[in-house]
Amino acid sequence: MAEEKRKRGRPRKNPEAVAEPHEKPAKRRGRPPKNKANETAVSAKNLVYKPVNAWDNKTMTESKIEKFSKGYKAFLDKAKTEREFVREAEDLAIRNGFVDIEKILSEKTPLNPGDKVYRIVRKKLMLLAVIGEKPCEEGTRMIGAHIDSPRVDIKQNPLYESTDMVFLKTHYYGGIKKYQWLTIPLALHGTIVKADGSIIDISIGEDPGDPVFTITDLLPHLAKEQMEKKLNEAFKGEDMNVLVGSRPDPDKEAKDRFKLNILKILNEKYGITEEDFVSSELQMVPAFKAQDIGFDRSMIGAYGHDDRVCAYPALMAILDTVKPEYTAVCVLTDKEEIGSVGNTGAQSRALENFLADLCALTTGGEYSDRLLRSCLYSSKMLSADVNAAVDPNFEGTHDKLNAAYLGKGIAIMKFGGSKGKSGASDAHAEFVGEIRRLFNENQVPWHITELGAVDKGGGGTIAMMIANLGVDVIDVGVPVLSMHAPFEVVSKADVYAAYKGYYGFVK
Ligand code: MN
Ligand code: MN
Repeated sequence: MAEEKRKRGRPRKNPEAVAEPHEKPAKRRGRPPKNKANETAVSAKNLVYKPVNAWDNKTMTESKIEKFSKGYKAFLDKAKTEREFVREAEDLAIRNGFVDIEKILSEKTPLNPGDKVYRIVRKKLMLLAVIGEKPCEEGTRMIGAHIDSPRVDIKQNPLYESTDMVFLKTHYYGGIKKYQWLTIPLALHGTIVKADGSIIDISIGEDPGDPVFTITDLLPHLAKEQMEKKLNEAFKGEDMNVLVGSRPDPDKEAKDRFKLNILKILNEKYGITEEDFVSSELQMVPAFKAQDIGFDRSMIGAYGHDDRVCAYPALMAILDTVKPEYTAVCVLTDKEEIGSVGNTGAQSRALENFLADLCALTTGGEYSDRLLRSCLYSSKMLSADVNAAVDPNFEGTHDKLNAAYLGKGIAIMKFGGSKGKSGASDAHAEFVGEIRRLFNENQVPWHITELGAVDKGGGGTIAMMIANLGVDVIDVGVPVLSMHAPFEVVSKADVYAAYKGYYGFVK
Protein backbone atom coordinates (compact mmCIF):
# COMPACT_ATOMS: atom_id res chain seq x y z
CA MET A 1 0.00 0.00 0.00
CA ALA A 2 2.34 2.38 1.09
CA GLU A 3 4.31 1.68 -2.02
CA GLU A 4 1.41 2.33 -4.21
CA LYS A 5 0.70 5.60 -2.44
CA ARG A 6 4.19 6.79 -3.03
CA LYS A 7 4.06 5.95 -6.66
CA ARG A 8 1.28 8.43 -7.10
CA GLY A 9 2.31 12.02 -7.40
CA ARG A 10 5.91 13.33 -7.20
CA PRO A 11 8.43 11.23 -5.33
CA ARG A 12 9.59 12.69 -2.01
CA LYS A 13 13.17 13.58 -1.45
CA ASN A 14 15.17 11.26 0.70
CA PRO A 15 14.85 12.88 4.14
CA GLU A 16 18.51 12.10 4.84
CA ALA A 17 19.54 14.13 1.83
CA VAL A 18 18.08 17.36 3.18
CA ALA A 19 20.64 20.10 3.11
CA GLU A 20 22.33 21.12 6.35
CA PRO A 21 21.88 24.73 7.34
CA HIS A 22 25.57 25.54 6.66
CA GLU A 23 25.44 24.21 3.14
CA LYS A 24 24.91 26.61 0.29
CA PRO A 25 21.71 26.15 -1.65
CA ALA A 26 22.23 24.14 -4.79
CA LYS A 27 23.26 26.19 -7.81
CA ARG A 28 20.73 26.87 -10.48
CA ARG A 29 21.59 25.36 -13.77
CA GLY A 30 22.01 27.39 -16.94
CA ARG A 31 23.40 30.94 -17.42
CA PRO A 32 22.83 33.37 -14.58
CA PRO A 33 20.81 36.49 -15.37
CA LYS A 34 23.02 39.14 -17.01
CA ASN A 35 22.58 41.91 -14.48
CA LYS A 36 23.72 39.70 -11.58
CA ALA A 37 26.95 38.79 -13.37
CA ASN A 38 27.76 42.45 -13.76
CA GLU A 39 27.36 43.02 -10.05
CA THR A 40 29.86 40.38 -8.99
CA ALA A 41 32.38 39.57 -11.72
CA VAL A 42 35.42 41.80 -12.51
CA SER A 43 35.19 42.79 -16.15
CA ALA A 44 37.87 41.54 -18.51
CA LYS A 45 39.00 45.13 -19.02
CA ASN A 46 40.00 45.40 -15.38
CA LEU A 47 41.58 41.97 -15.20
CA VAL A 48 44.09 42.49 -17.96
CA TYR A 49 47.10 44.84 -17.71
CA LYS A 50 47.17 46.82 -20.91
CA PRO A 51 48.86 50.22 -20.96
CA VAL A 52 46.96 52.76 -23.01
CA ASN A 53 48.51 55.11 -25.51
CA ALA A 54 49.28 58.46 -23.90
CA TRP A 55 47.48 60.32 -26.70
CA ASP A 56 44.24 58.61 -25.54
CA ASN A 57 44.65 59.97 -22.00
CA LYS A 58 41.77 62.40 -21.44
CA THR A 59 43.73 64.60 -19.00
CA MET A 60 46.46 65.24 -21.58
CA THR A 61 44.96 67.62 -24.10
CA GLU A 62 46.79 68.34 -27.32
CA SER A 63 47.20 72.00 -26.38
CA LYS A 64 48.88 71.10 -23.06
CA ILE A 65 51.20 68.63 -24.81
CA GLU A 66 52.05 71.11 -27.56
CA LYS A 67 52.70 73.98 -25.16
CA PHE A 68 55.06 71.89 -23.04
CA SER A 69 56.89 70.57 -26.12
CA LYS A 70 57.43 74.08 -27.41
CA GLY A 71 59.15 75.11 -24.18
CA TYR A 72 61.22 71.93 -24.23
CA LYS A 73 62.41 72.43 -27.81
CA ALA A 74 63.46 76.02 -27.13
CA PHE A 75 65.35 74.86 -24.04
CA LEU A 76 67.11 72.07 -25.97
CA ASP A 77 68.48 74.55 -28.50
CA LYS A 78 69.92 76.71 -25.73
CA ALA A 79 71.31 73.90 -23.56
CA LYS A 80 73.42 71.36 -25.47
CA THR A 81 76.03 70.83 -22.74
CA GLU A 82 75.82 70.41 -18.96
CA ARG A 83 77.31 73.88 -18.43
CA GLU A 84 74.69 75.43 -20.71
CA PHE A 85 71.88 73.48 -19.04
CA VAL A 86 72.98 74.77 -15.62
CA ARG A 87 73.22 78.33 -16.92
CA GLU A 88 69.71 78.25 -18.42
CA ALA A 89 68.25 76.45 -15.41
CA GLU A 90 69.73 78.97 -12.98
CA ASP A 91 68.15 81.75 -14.99
CA LEU A 92 64.73 80.07 -14.78
CA ALA A 93 65.18 79.23 -11.09
CA ILE A 94 65.95 82.83 -10.14
CA ARG A 95 62.95 84.05 -12.13
CA ASN A 96 60.81 81.56 -10.19
CA GLY A 97 61.94 82.81 -6.80
CA PHE A 98 64.78 80.37 -6.01
CA VAL A 99 67.66 81.76 -3.96
CA ASP A 100 71.29 80.60 -3.98
CA ILE A 101 71.78 78.53 -0.82
CA GLU A 102 75.29 79.97 -0.30
CA LYS A 103 73.64 83.36 0.29
CA ILE A 104 71.23 81.84 2.83
CA LEU A 105 74.12 80.07 4.57
CA SER A 106 76.25 83.21 4.78
CA GLU A 107 73.34 85.22 6.16
CA LYS A 108 72.29 82.34 8.47
CA THR A 109 68.63 82.83 7.52
CA PRO A 110 66.45 79.89 8.59
CA LEU A 111 64.45 78.11 5.89
CA ASN A 112 60.67 77.73 6.21
CA PRO A 113 58.06 75.70 4.33
CA GLY A 114 57.63 77.08 0.81
CA ASP A 115 61.15 78.57 0.64
CA LYS A 116 63.04 77.82 -2.57
CA VAL A 117 66.81 77.33 -2.79
CA TYR A 118 69.39 76.03 -5.26
CA ARG A 119 73.07 75.17 -5.43
CA ILE A 120 75.40 74.90 -8.39
CA VAL A 121 78.52 72.74 -8.11
CA ARG A 122 81.48 73.57 -10.44
CA LYS A 123 79.05 74.98 -13.03
CA LYS A 124 78.01 71.41 -14.03
CA LEU A 125 75.75 70.01 -11.32
CA MET A 126 72.64 71.68 -9.95
CA LEU A 127 70.42 70.99 -6.95
CA LEU A 128 67.11 72.71 -6.29
CA ALA A 129 64.73 72.40 -3.34
CA VAL A 130 61.36 73.65 -2.15
CA ILE A 131 61.08 73.29 1.62
CA GLY A 132 58.16 71.11 2.73
CA GLU A 133 55.75 71.22 5.66
CA LYS A 134 57.31 68.14 7.28
CA PRO A 135 60.82 68.28 8.76
CA CYS A 136 63.64 67.09 6.47
CA GLU A 137 64.31 64.34 9.01
CA GLU A 138 61.13 62.65 7.78
CA GLY A 139 62.57 62.48 4.28
CA THR A 140 62.35 64.28 0.96
CA ARG A 141 60.81 63.60 -2.43
CA MET A 142 63.48 63.83 -5.12
CA ILE A 143 63.77 63.68 -8.86
CA GLY A 144 67.24 62.97 -10.22
CA ALA A 145 68.25 63.38 -13.86
CA HIS A 146 71.56 63.85 -15.67
CA ILE A 147 72.41 66.74 -17.94
CA ASP A 148 75.48 65.47 -19.81
CA SER A 149 75.03 63.74 -23.17
CA PRO A 150 77.25 61.64 -25.45
CA ARG A 151 79.37 63.81 -27.74
CA VAL A 152 82.82 64.27 -29.25
CA ASP A 153 85.27 66.08 -26.94
CA ILE A 154 88.29 68.02 -28.22
CA LYS A 155 91.68 66.85 -26.90
CA GLN A 156 93.97 69.13 -24.87
CA ASN A 157 96.54 69.52 -27.69
CA PRO A 158 94.25 69.08 -30.68
CA LEU A 159 95.34 71.25 -33.61
CA TYR A 160 97.30 69.89 -36.59
CA GLU A 161 97.47 70.20 -40.35
CA SER A 162 97.64 67.50 -42.97
CA THR A 163 97.45 67.64 -46.76
CA ASP A 164 96.66 71.38 -46.69
CA MET A 165 93.76 70.90 -44.28
CA VAL A 166 93.47 71.61 -40.56
CA PHE A 167 91.93 69.25 -37.98
CA LEU A 168 91.16 68.97 -34.27
CA LYS A 169 91.95 65.70 -32.49
CA THR A 170 89.08 64.32 -30.41
CA HIS A 171 88.19 61.76 -27.78
CA TYR A 172 84.53 60.78 -27.81
CA TYR A 173 82.50 61.02 -24.58
CA GLY A 174 80.00 58.34 -23.57
CA GLY A 175 78.76 55.34 -25.51
CA ILE A 176 78.43 56.20 -29.18
CA LYS A 177 78.21 54.34 -32.47
CA LYS A 178 81.10 56.21 -34.08
CA TYR A 179 79.85 56.14 -37.68
CA GLN A 180 76.74 58.11 -36.68
CA TRP A 181 78.92 61.12 -35.86
CA LEU A 182 80.62 61.32 -39.27
CA THR A 183 79.45 63.58 -42.11
CA ILE A 184 77.02 65.61 -40.02
CA PRO A 185 77.29 69.33 -39.22
CA LEU A 186 78.89 69.83 -35.79
CA ALA A 187 78.92 72.88 -33.54
CA LEU A 188 81.71 73.74 -31.12
CA HIS A 189 80.67 74.48 -27.53
CA GLY A 190 82.75 74.95 -24.44
CA THR A 191 84.98 76.91 -22.15
CA ILE A 192 88.60 78.03 -22.41
CA VAL A 193 90.64 79.14 -19.42
CA LYS A 194 93.36 81.45 -20.70
CA ALA A 195 96.93 81.81 -19.41
CA ASP A 196 95.95 84.77 -17.21
CA GLY A 197 93.05 82.79 -15.68
CA SER A 198 90.30 84.62 -17.55
CA ILE A 199 87.52 82.41 -18.88
CA ILE A 200 85.75 82.56 -22.23
CA ASP A 201 82.70 80.59 -23.29
CA ILE A 202 82.46 79.48 -26.89
CA SER A 203 79.53 78.52 -29.10
CA ILE A 204 80.14 78.31 -32.84
CA GLY A 205 77.71 76.75 -35.27
CA GLU A 206 74.38 77.60 -33.63
CA ASP A 207 73.53 81.04 -35.03
CA PRO A 208 72.38 81.41 -38.62
CA GLY A 209 75.42 82.37 -40.68
CA ASP A 210 77.84 80.61 -38.29
CA PRO A 211 80.29 78.15 -39.82
CA VAL A 212 79.99 74.51 -38.73
CA PHE A 213 82.49 71.65 -38.56
CA THR A 214 82.43 68.00 -39.60
CA ILE A 215 84.19 64.64 -39.40
CA THR A 216 84.66 63.13 -42.84
CA ASP A 217 84.08 59.57 -44.06
CA LEU A 218 85.30 57.48 -46.97
CA LEU A 219 83.37 57.46 -50.26
CA PRO A 220 81.65 54.13 -51.03
CA HIS A 221 83.70 53.77 -54.22
CA LEU A 222 86.90 53.28 -52.24
CA ALA A 223 85.38 51.70 -49.13
CA LYS A 224 85.57 48.06 -50.17
CA GLU A 225 87.88 47.16 -47.28
CA GLN A 226 86.05 49.36 -44.80
CA MET A 227 82.67 47.85 -45.69
CA GLU A 228 83.92 44.35 -44.99
CA LYS A 229 85.02 45.23 -41.46
CA LYS A 230 82.95 44.77 -38.33
CA LEU A 231 80.97 47.86 -37.39
CA ASN A 232 82.96 48.44 -34.21
CA GLU A 233 86.26 48.06 -36.04
CA ALA A 234 85.53 50.03 -39.20
CA PHE A 235 85.75 53.41 -37.48
CA LYS A 236 88.60 54.19 -35.10
CA GLY A 237 88.19 56.68 -32.27
CA GLU A 238 91.66 58.05 -32.95
CA ASP A 239 90.65 58.88 -36.53
CA MET A 240 87.61 60.97 -35.56
CA ASN A 241 89.34 64.24 -36.37
CA VAL A 242 87.24 67.33 -37.00
CA LEU A 243 87.83 69.36 -40.15
CA VAL A 244 88.25 73.03 -39.19
CA GLY A 245 90.13 74.78 -42.03
CA SER A 246 91.90 74.67 -45.39
CA ARG A 247 93.17 78.16 -46.21
CA PRO A 248 96.90 78.97 -45.90
CA ASP A 249 98.51 81.91 -44.16
CA PRO A 250 99.69 84.40 -46.83
CA ASP A 251 103.31 83.98 -45.67
CA LYS A 252 104.53 81.26 -48.03
CA GLU A 253 107.72 80.76 -46.01
CA ALA A 254 105.84 80.10 -42.74
CA LYS A 255 105.83 76.61 -41.22
CA ASP A 256 102.43 74.87 -41.04
CA ARG A 257 100.75 77.76 -42.89
CA PHE A 258 97.26 76.21 -42.73
CA LYS A 259 97.35 75.63 -38.98
CA LEU A 260 98.92 79.08 -38.48
CA ASN A 261 96.02 80.70 -40.28
CA ILE A 262 93.52 79.06 -37.91
CA LEU A 263 95.58 80.10 -34.86
CA LYS A 264 95.59 83.69 -36.13
CA ILE A 265 91.78 83.65 -36.53
CA LEU A 266 91.31 82.20 -33.02
CA ASN A 267 93.69 84.78 -31.54
CA GLU A 268 91.92 87.63 -33.30
CA LYS A 269 88.46 86.48 -32.23
CA TYR A 270 89.08 85.06 -28.74
CA GLY A 271 92.55 86.28 -27.81
CA ILE A 272 93.80 82.71 -27.33
CA THR A 273 97.03 80.93 -28.19
CA GLU A 274 97.55 77.24 -28.92
CA GLU A 275 98.59 76.57 -25.31
CA ASP A 276 95.17 77.74 -24.09
CA PHE A 277 93.60 74.53 -25.47
CA VAL A 278 95.36 72.76 -22.59
CA SER A 279 92.96 74.31 -20.07
CA SER A 280 89.82 74.04 -22.13
CA GLU A 281 86.69 71.91 -22.24
CA LEU A 282 85.50 71.96 -25.83
CA GLN A 283 82.82 69.72 -27.22
CA MET A 284 81.59 68.96 -30.70
CA VAL A 285 77.82 68.53 -30.65
CA PRO A 286 75.37 68.16 -33.54
CA ALA A 287 74.64 71.57 -35.05
CA PHE A 288 70.99 70.88 -35.76
CA LYS A 289 68.05 72.30 -33.81
CA ALA A 290 65.19 70.41 -32.18
CA GLN A 291 62.48 69.75 -34.75
CA ASP A 292 59.00 68.25 -35.00
CA ILE A 293 58.93 64.82 -36.61
CA GLY A 294 56.12 63.33 -38.65
CA PHE A 295 53.18 64.53 -40.75
CA ASP A 296 51.27 64.74 -37.46
CA ARG A 297 54.13 66.50 -35.63
CA SER A 298 53.72 63.99 -32.80
CA MET A 299 57.43 63.54 -32.09
CA ILE A 300 60.54 65.62 -31.44
CA GLY A 301 63.88 64.91 -33.06
CA ALA A 302 66.90 66.48 -31.34
CA TYR A 303 70.39 66.03 -29.97
CA GLY A 304 70.61 65.21 -26.26
CA HIS A 305 67.13 63.92 -25.35
CA ASP A 306 69.16 61.58 -23.11
CA ASP A 307 68.72 62.91 -20.58
CA ARG A 308 67.30 66.40 -21.12
CA VAL A 309 63.92 64.87 -21.95
CA CYS A 310 63.75 63.89 -18.27
CA ALA A 311 65.88 66.70 -16.82
CA TYR A 312 63.70 69.43 -18.35
CA PRO A 313 60.36 68.02 -17.06
CA ALA A 314 62.07 67.44 -13.68
CA LEU A 315 63.20 71.06 -13.62
CA MET A 316 59.72 72.29 -14.61
CA ALA A 317 58.15 70.12 -11.90
CA ILE A 318 60.30 71.66 -9.15
CA LEU A 319 59.79 75.19 -10.49
CA ASP A 320 56.01 74.65 -10.32
CA THR A 321 56.08 73.24 -6.77
CA VAL A 322 54.68 75.68 -4.20
CA LYS A 323 54.51 74.32 -0.64
CA PRO A 324 54.88 70.54 -0.67
CA GLU A 325 54.22 68.15 2.20
CA TYR A 326 57.75 66.73 2.00
CA THR A 327 60.72 68.85 0.95
CA ALA A 328 60.96 68.57 -2.84
CA VAL A 329 64.41 68.21 -4.38
CA CYS A 330 65.61 68.17 -7.99
CA VAL A 331 69.10 66.79 -8.69
CA LEU A 332 70.68 67.49 -12.08
CA THR A 333 73.97 65.65 -12.32
CA ASP A 334 76.92 65.52 -14.71
CA LYS A 335 79.12 62.61 -15.92
CA GLU A 336 76.34 59.98 -15.97
CA GLU A 337 77.38 58.91 -19.45
CA ILE A 338 80.86 57.96 -18.19
CA GLY A 339 79.86 56.34 -14.89
CA SER A 340 78.63 59.22 -12.69
CA VAL A 341 82.22 59.81 -11.58
CA GLY A 342 83.94 62.93 -10.24
CA ASN A 343 82.80 65.72 -7.96
CA THR A 344 79.95 66.69 -10.30
CA GLY A 345 78.67 63.11 -10.81
CA ALA A 346 76.02 61.23 -8.86
CA GLN A 347 78.71 59.30 -6.97
CA SER A 348 79.95 62.54 -5.39
CA ARG A 349 78.87 63.89 -2.01
CA ALA A 350 77.05 66.84 -3.62
CA LEU A 351 73.54 65.58 -2.83
CA GLU A 352 74.40 64.57 0.74
CA ASN A 353 76.02 67.97 1.36
CA PHE A 354 72.97 69.77 0.00
CA LEU A 355 70.56 67.72 2.14
CA ALA A 356 72.81 68.31 5.18
CA ASP A 357 72.52 72.05 4.61
CA LEU A 358 68.73 71.78 4.21
CA CYS A 359 68.54 69.81 7.48
CA ALA A 360 70.68 72.43 9.24
CA LEU A 361 68.81 75.43 7.87
CA THR A 362 65.38 74.01 8.77
CA THR A 363 66.22 72.97 12.35
CA GLY A 364 67.65 76.23 13.72
CA GLY A 365 71.15 75.05 14.53
CA GLU A 366 70.04 71.70 15.95
CA TYR A 367 71.90 69.89 13.21
CA SER A 368 73.52 66.53 13.81
CA ASP A 369 74.77 63.85 11.42
CA ARG A 370 71.91 61.65 12.62
CA LEU A 371 69.44 64.12 11.10
CA LEU A 372 71.00 63.69 7.67
CA ARG A 373 71.10 59.89 7.95
CA SER A 374 67.44 59.88 8.92
CA CYS A 375 66.60 62.24 6.07
CA LEU A 376 68.36 59.98 3.55
CA TYR A 377 66.82 56.80 4.89
CA SER A 378 63.28 58.23 4.67
CA SER A 379 63.75 59.92 1.28
CA LYS A 380 62.34 58.71 -2.01
CA MET A 381 63.58 59.42 -5.52
CA LEU A 382 62.39 59.05 -9.06
CA SER A 383 65.57 58.44 -11.07
CA ALA A 384 64.56 60.29 -14.20
CA ASP A 385 66.42 58.73 -17.10
CA VAL A 386 65.45 57.64 -20.58
CA ASN A 387 64.53 54.11 -21.61
CA ALA A 388 65.04 52.32 -24.95
CA ALA A 389 61.79 52.35 -26.93
CA VAL A 390 60.98 49.31 -29.07
CA ASP A 391 62.05 49.95 -32.66
CA PRO A 392 60.01 47.69 -34.99
CA ASN A 393 62.84 47.88 -37.53
CA PHE A 394 65.14 46.02 -35.17
CA GLU A 395 63.42 42.85 -33.96
CA GLY A 396 64.53 40.74 -31.04
CA THR A 397 66.09 43.37 -28.82
CA HIS A 398 63.20 43.52 -26.36
CA ASP A 399 60.80 41.27 -24.52
CA LYS A 400 57.63 42.85 -25.85
CA LEU A 401 55.70 42.26 -22.61
CA ASN A 402 58.25 44.23 -20.62
CA ALA A 403 59.47 46.79 -23.13
CA ALA A 404 59.28 50.57 -23.34
CA TYR A 405 57.19 51.91 -26.20
CA LEU A 406 57.05 55.29 -27.86
CA GLY A 407 53.77 57.00 -26.96
CA LYS A 408 52.75 54.78 -24.05
CA GLY A 409 53.69 57.36 -21.47
CA ILE A 410 56.28 57.30 -18.75
CA ALA A 411 58.39 54.11 -18.54
CA ILE A 412 58.71 52.62 -15.06
CA MET A 413 61.77 50.36 -14.76
CA LYS A 414 61.95 48.26 -11.60
CA PHE A 415 65.47 47.01 -12.25
CA GLY A 416 68.31 47.64 -14.70
CA GLY A 417 71.67 45.93 -14.89
CA SER A 418 72.65 43.08 -17.18
CA LYS A 419 73.43 39.34 -17.19
CA GLY A 420 71.40 38.12 -14.23
CA LYS A 421 70.48 41.61 -12.99
CA SER A 422 74.13 42.22 -12.21
CA GLY A 423 74.79 45.82 -11.21
CA ALA A 424 71.07 46.54 -11.04
CA SER A 425 69.29 48.98 -8.84
CA ASP A 426 66.17 47.03 -8.00
CA ALA A 427 63.28 49.03 -6.55
CA HIS A 428 61.32 47.27 -3.81
CA ALA A 429 57.85 46.02 -4.75
CA GLU A 430 56.39 48.25 -2.03
CA PHE A 431 57.89 51.35 -3.64
CA VAL A 432 56.83 50.24 -7.15
CA GLY A 433 53.32 49.85 -5.73
CA GLU A 434 53.44 53.34 -4.28
CA ILE A 435 54.54 54.91 -7.56
CA ARG A 436 52.00 52.93 -9.57
CA ARG A 437 49.24 54.09 -7.20
CA LEU A 438 50.43 57.70 -7.41
CA PHE A 439 50.49 57.66 -11.21
CA ASN A 440 47.04 56.06 -11.38
CA GLU A 441 45.61 58.65 -8.99
CA ASN A 442 47.14 61.48 -10.99
CA GLN A 443 46.10 59.92 -14.31
CA VAL A 444 49.68 59.76 -15.56
CA PRO A 445 50.04 57.36 -18.52
CA TRP A 446 52.71 54.79 -17.57
CA HIS A 447 53.93 51.32 -18.47
CA ILE A 448 56.28 48.83 -16.83
CA THR A 449 59.54 48.26 -18.67
CA GLU A 450 63.06 46.89 -18.63
CA LEU A 451 66.01 48.05 -20.70
CA GLY A 452 66.04 45.16 -23.15
CA ALA A 453 65.66 41.40 -23.55
CA VAL A 454 67.61 39.18 -21.15
CA ASP A 455 71.33 38.98 -22.02
CA LYS A 456 70.97 41.42 -24.94
CA GLY A 457 73.01 44.08 -23.18
CA GLY A 458 71.99 46.41 -20.44
CA GLY A 459 72.82 49.57 -18.65
CA GLY A 460 72.51 51.61 -15.54
CA THR A 461 71.45 55.01 -14.32
CA ILE A 462 72.17 57.12 -11.25
CA ALA A 463 69.62 54.97 -9.36
CA MET A 464 72.21 52.57 -7.89
CA MET A 465 74.35 55.38 -6.44
CA ILE A 466 71.32 57.01 -4.85
CA ALA A 467 70.06 53.68 -3.49
CA ASN A 468 73.43 53.22 -1.76
CA LEU A 469 72.60 56.29 0.35
CA GLY A 470 69.56 54.50 1.77
CA VAL A 471 67.04 56.29 -0.45
CA ASP A 472 64.14 54.37 -2.03
CA VAL A 473 64.68 54.92 -5.74
CA ILE A 474 63.13 53.77 -9.01
CA ASP A 475 63.85 54.57 -12.66
CA VAL A 476 61.03 56.45 -14.30
CA GLY A 477 61.65 58.14 -17.66
CA VAL A 478 60.85 58.78 -21.29
CA PRO A 479 61.21 56.11 -24.03
CA VAL A 480 63.67 57.16 -26.76
CA LEU A 481 64.36 55.91 -30.29
CA SER A 482 67.96 56.04 -31.61
CA MET A 483 69.33 56.64 -28.11
CA HIS A 484 72.87 58.13 -28.07
CA ALA A 485 72.65 59.00 -31.77
CA PRO A 486 73.20 62.63 -32.81
CA PHE A 487 69.46 62.91 -33.53
CA GLU A 488 67.27 61.08 -31.03
CA VAL A 489 63.47 60.74 -31.19
CA VAL A 490 60.82 61.03 -28.47
CA SER A 491 57.03 61.32 -28.39
CA LYS A 492 55.61 64.68 -27.35
CA ALA A 493 52.93 62.89 -25.31
CA ASP A 494 55.60 61.01 -23.33
CA VAL A 495 57.47 64.25 -22.56
CA TYR A 496 54.32 65.74 -21.07
CA ALA A 497 53.54 62.48 -19.25
CA ALA A 498 56.98 62.73 -17.61
CA TYR A 499 56.22 66.22 -16.38
CA LYS A 500 52.85 65.08 -15.03
CA GLY A 501 54.46 62.14 -13.23
CA TYR A 502 57.35 64.11 -11.74
CA TYR A 503 55.10 66.96 -10.63
CA GLY A 504 52.65 64.53 -9.04
CA PHE A 505 55.54 63.04 -7.06
CA VAL A 506 57.03 66.24 -5.64
CA LYS A 507 54.08 68.66 -5.49
MN1 MN B 1 70.64 58.68 -19.60
MN1 MN C 1 72.78 57.69 -21.91
